[in-house]
Amino acid sequence: MREPTLPDSCAAPENPSVLRVNAAREAILAKLPVLQSLQKLALRDTLGRVLAEDIISPFNVPPYANSAMDGYALASTDLEKLPATLRCVGQAFAGQPFAGSVQPGECIRIMTGAIVPDGCDTVIMQEQAEVDGDNIYFSGEHRRGDNVRLAGEDIAQGQVVFSKGRRINAADLGLLASLGRSEVSVLRKLRVAFFSTGDELKSIGESLKPGDIYDSNRYTLFAMLQKLGIDMLDMGVIKDDPEALRQALQAASDNADVVITSGGVSVGDADYIKALLAEPGQVNFWKIAMKPGRPLAFGQIANTPFFGLPGNPVSVMVTFYQFVLPALQKMAGETQTAPLLLQATAAAPIRKRPGRFEFQRGILKSSADGQLQVCMTGEQGSGILSSMSHANCFILLDENCAGINAGERVTVQPFAGLM
Ligand code: AMP
Ligand code: MG
Repeated sequence: MREPTLPDSCAAPENPSVLRVNAAREAILAKLPVLQSLQKLALRDTLGRVLAEDIISPFNVPPYANSAMDGYALASTDLEKLPATLRCVGQAFAGQPFAGSVQPGECIRIMTGAIVPDGCDTVIMQEQAEVDGDNIYFSGEHRRGDNVRLAGEDIAQGQVVFSKGRRINAADLGLLASLGRSEVSVLRKLRVAFFSTGDELKSIGESLKPGDIYDSNRYTLFAMLQKLGIDMLDMGVIKDDPEALRQALQAASDNADVVITSGGVSVGDADYIKALLAEPGQVNFWKIAMKPGRPLAFGQIANTPFFGLPGNPVSVMVTFYQFVLPALQKMAGETQTAPLLLQATAAAPIRKRPGRFEFQRGILKSSADGQLQVCMTGEQGSGILSSMSHANCFILLDENCAGINAGERVTVQPFAGLM
């Protein structure tokens, strides 16, 4: 077995062969390439994809000053004369501008989105006007520029709207449309091959013999990869058989940008992946000071990055979010952002021994007085996948933490956006 070569400071102090979570993540990220090939896609098809170009606005959005309300447009110099009656000399609708210009003592009827005409800089809501034919009576307090949306107030001409590396969301798609973009350059999708290992695993549809279980990891992996817009190659279940594993790993690395497996990386008699991969010597088997998810294999199979995740279903999800997700984001060219962490009050005591970083499953909610409160989902074993379903956050308890009292503050990482 090879241990990773890392500076001493990366190792957990109490045991130098054990890595801290952050150090392991850094070490993984440092070794990964960024995918470079790009494709031009029709705007709608870019949703969820990573931008391969900076988006610079060719014009102002909105392109002209326009009304934010249905009402009357006038010159702010007339506001000093209020209360007063102004003469309505025309009207402007969205898409149907007023052709003339407005003189002092005049106003026009204007609807939301219509161009504010020459001579006007202020709009008064129709609810604040009294209409008598063409004579409009205004009173009350109004300020220059009220209810007028200025040209370029959303996006200025020449502004960098989005930088390369941004993952396009629903609002972004709308913004790109407002710039008139019909096509956008994005990075190619990452292709990930994955399979489960274990003689006990059966696929859905097969019958279970004593000692068998259904393979759930391939489904959580599928879902987590789907969320990232990954092109997937699901290779099913591979038996704990050296030749079968060797062939599967070979095929996976030949056909994908990244290979992910689950199971068979811990210390156990049937842990063939370890034995297989130790030979080429490009894969490290890490003991990470974390719970769940302590064993993790990471390296390369013939230049293809490889993650050997633990077999336990909760460990798969925790190690995916901590290590694989940032790795895939980096390879896909996505700009990395630190996860959103919140502080919450522990509703009940949380037991923990110092030594490992724990990712406990929590339920975060707002208490009656509007404070964030978190409680555990119950049993925290790494095989209890229902704890992930019931939870809506991880409770992050660092290596030194020796337990939390009820009422103490803890750091939580919400699942929102993750799952
Ligand atoms: P391993 O890491 O292979 O020793 O597996 C650890 C535990 O996780 C064992 O109880 C396995 O049965 C279980 N396990 C491994 N792979 C899967 C899977 N794909 N789906 C559900 N449970 C699994
Ligand atoms: Mg196994």
